[in-house]
Amino acid sequence: MAMDTWFMQGGWAFLDASEIDPLLDKMEEAEIRHLAFGGPLPLAPEPRHYEGPLKGCPPPPATRARAAKIRSFLEAAWSRNLRIYSYGTNPHMCGDSGFYQRLPNKHLLQVDQSLVGVESYWGACANAPEFLQFYLGRIRDVHLHFPRVEGFLNDGPEFGYEIAGLGYMDGNLDLFGCFGPCCASKARELGYDFGDLKQGALRLMNFLRALDEGALARMFEHPGAPPDALAAAAGEDRIVAWLRFKEDSIVSYVQQLCRGVKEMNSALEMGIGSRLPAFVPLTGYDLGRLAQHADFLLPKIYLWMGGVDGLYGTVYRWARTLRDWNPHLREELLFRFTYRLFGFELPQVQSLADMLHHIEPGFADSTARTYLGAPFPAEFFTRVVADQVRLMIAQVGDAGQVRPWTHVDHGGRVLTPDELDRTLSAAAAAGLRTYLNYCPLESGNWEVAIKHGKED
Ligand SMILES: [Zn+2]
Repeated sequence: MAMDTWFMQGGWAFLDASEIDPLLDKMEEAEIRHLAFGGPLPLAPEPRHYEGPLKGCPPPPATRARAAKIRSFLEAAWSRNLRIYSYGTNPHMCGDSGFYQRLPNKHLLQVDQSLVGVESYWGACANAPEFLQFYLGRIRDVHLHFPRVEGFLNDGPEFGYEIAGLGYMDGNLDLFGCFGPCCASKARELGYDFGDLKQGALRLMNFLRALDEGALARMFEHPGAPPDALAAAAGEDRIVAWLRFKEDSIVSYVQQLCRGVKEMNSALEMGIGSRLPAFVPLTGYDLGRLAQHADFLLPKIYLWMGGVDGLYGTVYRWARTLRDWNPHLREELLFRFTYRLFGFELPQVQSLADMLHHIEPGFADSTARTYLGAPFPAEFFTRVVADQVRLMIAQVGDAGQVRPWTHVDHGGRVLTPDELDRTLSAAAAAGLRTYLNYCPLESGNWEVAIKHGKED
C-alpha cells in the first residue's frame, strides 16, 4: 500500500552534502510532493509583526551561513511545484540564543512541594500569553517574507509524561508540570481550582512512590480509561481534574494558535504535533478535540529504546523509576501497571532485563546513540504500532488528517531500516494514508521511503 510521503529535514546541513537538483530528483523518486524544514528561514525579524514584549530572534548562524543556498533551494523546489512547510518558526528553534530565558518557563512540582523551573530552550510554557505572541510574530515574519510557504508545523509546548526526574531532558518531559504562575492564571481563566489541581498531582506523586499490591489490583480491575483507573487506584479524583486541565489548556493554546494563523491568511495550513495515543492523556493533547482546529495532526511514531522520546525508552524509564521507588514489588507487577497506564503491552517484555536486550549495555540510561541491541519482535509492529495507528485515526476521525512523524532515533538504539519498514507496513495496514518522514537521508532509510511512497 503506497502512502503520501511528506519529507522533513531538521536543519539546513543537508544542503552541504548535495547539489540542489540531485536532491530534488531524489524527492521525486519517492513521489514526495511536500517538504518541511526545521531550520529557521533566512530573514530579518520585523518588530511590527510582534504584539508582545519579544520582537523576534535573529536566524541562527547555521541559517545565515547558508542563506543564499536556502533561497536557491526553495526557488528550485517551487519551480517543480513542491509544497513547502516550516517547522523552524517553533520558538524552541531559537535554540540556546537566550530567548527562552525571556519567556515564562514551566515549573515542576517536587515531592517536597517546592517548584523547580525547567532550564532548557524547550522549557517555555504554552500557558504564558507571551509565548503565543512571540510564536505568531515568527509565523508572520515567514508568511510576509516567504509568502509561498504553505503552512507550519507545531511541536509543543506540551505537558510532560515521564517520571524519571530532573536528570532526564532537564525535566522538560516531567509529568508533574506546570505549576508556575502561567498555569495558575490559565486555571483561573478555565474555571479550575489551581490548589485542587496541585493536590491531585501531589497525591499521584506520592501514590507512585508507595505502591502496594492492593492499589495495583484496583488499577488492573478498573474497567475505565487509564486516567480514571489511576485516580481510582490512588483514591483521588483530583488527578482526573488535573489531567483535564492540561487538556483544556492545550486545546485553548492550539485553538488560539490556529486562529491567529488563519487570520493572517485563511489558506495557511497548521499541522499540530503530539505524542502517540498511549501518551497523549498525560501530555494534554487530545487528538479529537485538536482536530477541530488543526488542518492535520502529527502524532510521533517514535519507538526506540533509550535516548529521548522513544516508546520503548519511556516504558523502560517508567518501570525502572517505579522499581526504584517500590523495590518490594515484583517487576512483573510494575510492568503490568505501566502497560495498564499506557494501554498497550510490549511482547516478550515482563522485566527490565527483557528490555535491556534491545540496547547495548551502557546506553539504556543515556541519551547517546547506539546501533547495537536486538531489534524489536515482529509482533510489536503488527500489534502495538498497528493499534496506536488505528487509535490515532479513530480519535482524529479522518485518516486524511493524520500524518505522523517517523524517525529512527533521538539518541538510544537507532531503528534498523527493517524496523522502519515494519513500522510503515503495520501503519499502512492499520489504515494510515500519509506520513511525515523525518528520518536522516541515509540509503537504508531512503530505500524504505521509496518502497512505501510508491504503488506496489
Ligand atoms: Zn505554566
